[in-house]
Amino acid sequence: MKKESVLITGAAGFLGSHLCDRFIKEGYHVIGMDNLITGDLRNIEHLFHLEDFEFHNHDVSKFVHVPGDLKYILHFASPASPIDYLKIPIQTLKVGSLGTHNLLGLAKDKKARILVASTSEVYGDPTVHPQTEDYWGNVNPVGPRGVYDEAKRFQEAMTMAYHTYHQVETRIVRIFNTYGPRMRLNDGRVLPAFMGQALRGEDLTVFGDGSQTRSFCYVDDLVEGIYRLLLSDCVDPVNVGNPKEITIKEFADEIINLTGTDQKVVYKALPTDDPKQRQPNIDKAKEILGWEPQYSREEGLKITWEYFKSLPKERLYEEAHHRDFKA
Ligand code: UDP
Repeated sequence: MKKESVLITGAAGFLGSHLCDRFIKEGYHVIGMDNLITGDLRNIEHLFHLEDFEFHNHDVSKFVHVPGDLKYILHFASPASPIDYLKIPIQTLKVGSLGTHNLLGLAKDKKARILVASTSEVYGDPTVHPQTEDYWGNVNPVGPRGVYDEAKRFQEAMTMAYHTYHQVETRIVRIFNTYGPRMRLNDGRVLPAFMGQALRGEDLTVFGDGSQTRSFCYVDDLVEGIYRLLLSDCVDPVNVGNPKEITIKEFADEIINLTGTDQKVVYKALPTDDPKQRQPNIDKAKEILGWEPQYSREEGLKITWEYFKSLPKERLYEEAHHRDFKA
C-alpha cells in the first residue's frame, strides 16, 4: 500500500529533523525541505538511505511545489535564534510571511492539513505570567527580535485567514524554549552556548544578572505535543512547552554541576529586548491533547550533554554558519 506523504519544512534543522524521525517511525513517506541557510544535513543524513525519505533543497519563501498527494504539511523552516535574526533578518521575515503563504497555498491545493510552528516570541516580553494563549503579547516591532516575532504573528494571522476564508485545515503550535540533541552548537542559544563553553574549557557567559527566566522543554516531549496537536481538531493556537521555570543563573549552575566543568560564570550585557520571564501555561494542551512533558530537566540535560560530548572536537570550533544567501 502506498504510504501517505508529509512535507516537513526546515527538515535539516533541530526540530525539523526530529519531526522527520517521528513521521518515518509513524509510517509516513517524509518529504524534507530546507534551504540549509541555518539547517545542517548532518541532522538527517541517517535518513537518506530510506526509501520513505526524500530531501528537497529549496527556499520556501519562493513558490513551493511537490508532486503527488500530501496528507500533512509541517512548516518548521525559520531561523530561530537571536544571532540568526541579527545576521539574516530579511530571510527571517520572508520565511515566516512569504514562506507561510506559499505553504498555505500548497495545503489548499493538496487538501492537506497544515501545522505551522509559532513561538512564545509572539508574547514578546510578556506582562502576563505564565503566558496563556489568550494573552496578546508585548512585542517591539522594530527591535532586533521584531523580525522573528512579527513574522510569526503575521504567520498566525495568515494561517487563520486561510482557515476561515479557504477552509484549509490548520493547526498552530506556540513553541517555548526547547532543547536536545542536534541543536546548533554556535547559534548563541543558551544551552548549546553553555555546553559548548564547558567542552572548550571556557567560562559560562550569563547575560544580564541572570535573573531572567526560561522554561526548557526536552525535544521528545515537544515532538509528542506537536504530533498530538496535528491529529487533534484544535484550530486555535496551543502552547507546547515545559512549565518548569528557572532563572538563567540557576541554569548555568545546573550545567556546571552536570558537566563537572571548573570554569566560572562571567556576566555579559543583556541583549536588547531580552524577555525577563517566560513560562507557558499548558492547561489547554493538557485538556485538549492529554499532553504534558514527561522528561525532567535532569534527564533531558543528561541526554543532551552526551550528544554534545560525542561530537567530533572540530565541531566545537565551527563558526555559526549561514550559507551565503541573498535576501
Ligand atoms: N543567554 C545567556 N548566555 C548565553 C546565551 C543566552 O545568559 O550565552 C540568555 C539570554 O540572554 C536569554 C536566555 O539565556 O535570557 C535564553 O536565551 P536563548 O537565546 O537560548 O533563547 P530566548 O532568549 O529566545 O528564549
